[in-house]
Amino acid sequence: MDIETIIKQAEKKQNEIYKKSEKMEKIAVMGGTFDPIHHGHLVIAEQIRCEYNLDKVIFIPAGIPPHKTGLPVSDSKHRYAMALLATVTNPYFEVSKIEIEDASISYTIHTIKKLKQIYKDNTELFFITGADAICDIETWKDVDELLHICHFIAATRPGLESPFVDRKIKELQKKYKADIYQMDVPALAISSTDIRRRVTQNQSIKYLVPESVEYYIYKNGLYR
Ligand code: ATP
Ligand code: MG
Repeated sequence: MDIETIIKQAEKKQNEIYKKSEKMEKIAVMGGTFDPIHHGHLVIAEQIRCEYNLDKVIFIPAGIPPHKTGLPVSDSKHRYAMALLATVTNPYFEVSKIEIEDASISYTIHTIKKLKQIYKDNTELFFITGADAICDIETWKDVDELLHICHFIAATRPGLESPFVDRKIKELQKKYKADIYQMDVPALAISSTDIRRRVTQNQSIKYLVPESVEYYIYKNGLYR
């Protein structure tokens, strides 16, 4: 089956889930560049979904990532397609085009506000990040407001010492009176940066990304 057909089928399935989602209460959002999406993203999202009893997790690839302006980022159509391919086998995962359809810089505060308009008031919104992202959050737009309009769940990430992350989270909780939960997930030292480097250097990326994503990367000549 060709990629276009796979994507069409994945989107069809996602639309069906979207229709069913009206009564859902706990929804988590996972934002990122996803260049490419990898098993680190997928494992933390699934672990958090189960632990927090979430109705679904929405992956939102950034259109123009605020922290990566000036850096080369793959076309959003590829990042979106890879996210769809990676998540299609999980009925609780969805991918949203909300940021890639917007021509402006993808600020999380704008996205969360839009989602709050889409979903009913009785929907509790959570935002999933890795430890690196939560430690960086004070550089995000309107951090004070952002930390109050949704809960944050920060997953451990190899490379960041947990005492440092614990301290940072406590500091944020105190300073902003924010709701930030911490979650230990099996340490997966996988990053998109490393995957891009491996492809460029002709090294294997097997088992770091889903097979469908690996195939898509080669088929479209990404990261060469
Ligand atoms: P890059 O190397 O290009 O920055 P990345 O692997 O960090 O890519 P992003 O798209 O930047 O992936 O990350 C999206 C979100 O996923 C961020 O909140 C990041 O902290 C989190 N994340 C990514 N990889 C992991 C991992 N292996 N463990 C825990 N969290 C992760
Ligand atoms: Mg990153």
